[in-house]
Amino acid sequence: MNPAQAAELLRQGQLVAIPTETVYGLAADATQESAIGQVFALKGRPADHPLIVHLGDASWAAHWGVLPPLFARLAERFWPGPLTLVVPRLARVSPLITGGQDSVALRVPRHPLTLETLRLLGEPVVAPSANRFGHTSPTRAEHVLSEFPGLAVLDGGPCPVGLESSIVDLTGPQPRLLRPGQLSRSQLEEVTGPLSASDVSAPRVPGALDRHYAPRTLTRWDDGSVPTGRWGWIGFSQRGATAEAMMPSSAEEYGARLYAALRELDDAGLEVILVERPPQGSEWEAVLDRLRRAVI
Ligand code: AMP
Ligand code: MG
Repeated sequence: MNPAQAAELLRQGQLVAIPTETVYGLAADATQESAIGQVFALKGRPADHPLIVHLGDASWAAHWGVLPPLFARLAERFWPGPLTLVVPRLARVSPLITGGQDSVALRVPRHPLTLETLRLLGEPVVAPSANRFGHTSPTRAEHVLSEFPGLAVLDGGPCPVGLESSIVDLTGPQPRLLRPGQLSRSQLEEVTGPLSASDVSAPRVPGALDRHYAPRTLTRWDDGSVPTGRWGWIGFSQRGATAEAMMPSSAEEYGARLYAALRELDDAGLEVILVERPPQGSEWEAVLDRLRRAVI
């Protein structure tokens, strides 16, 4: 599959898995409600969990949202890139996309094949992670096919960031960080000033559910004990487990590897997976956020 074929399928109202720098997305033309409905159905995603609108260029944003001054500064600095901006929506945005809310989430992804697809389509796509609701997000084309056999996939190789985008809400008096991502809080705050913390219990952000990004295998923090039976290990040095994922010591590389590691261990027929706690420090915020939602 190439971008021209992907754009054609999307134009016909079909779903296509697309590569982005964060994770693979399950894309549907954002102007076709029946296609958007199929995204919810295929993922098993509750209807009140809003979708991100992926744009081919920052200039498209004005057709979808009301853009505050901070929007232009963030977009100029970080787009294309792993940053989603929530702004008041315009009337043409389907309530299916926004979960009935009066705001819309916008992003320009940084992957050449997907940007080409979007520009050929001439319309944005909605593109939640291409996995069943609550599962680990796919960071390789083969992960998508293991979730959804037979789905059309635009293979763009492994996702270099590997964690979902940072989400900043620009609808209130103060910008708020709704979900941490690879862009660190301090990088964002250089543009926004102090970001207020998100209310993690708010259901507006599916990724904010307590248990999300979760393997099927029981997964818990390392507490120093050695489990009986077949067990897995996600850590920085070897531990003598049945299957081990050795993780990089840089937060960025760890983030890029994490979901593939969770999937590998999840497929290894283990009784439990233990996770070594990553170091403290703001650069680990996004990794720690995802690990907390993967462990029991
Ligand atoms: P995902 O597709 O898993 O990256 O998730 C999309 C993220 O964008 C979810 O966490 C959504 O809740 C969030 N999102 C989309 N639209 C809105 C919105 N209008 N307000 C707040 N969050 C949103
Ligand atoms: Mg997801």
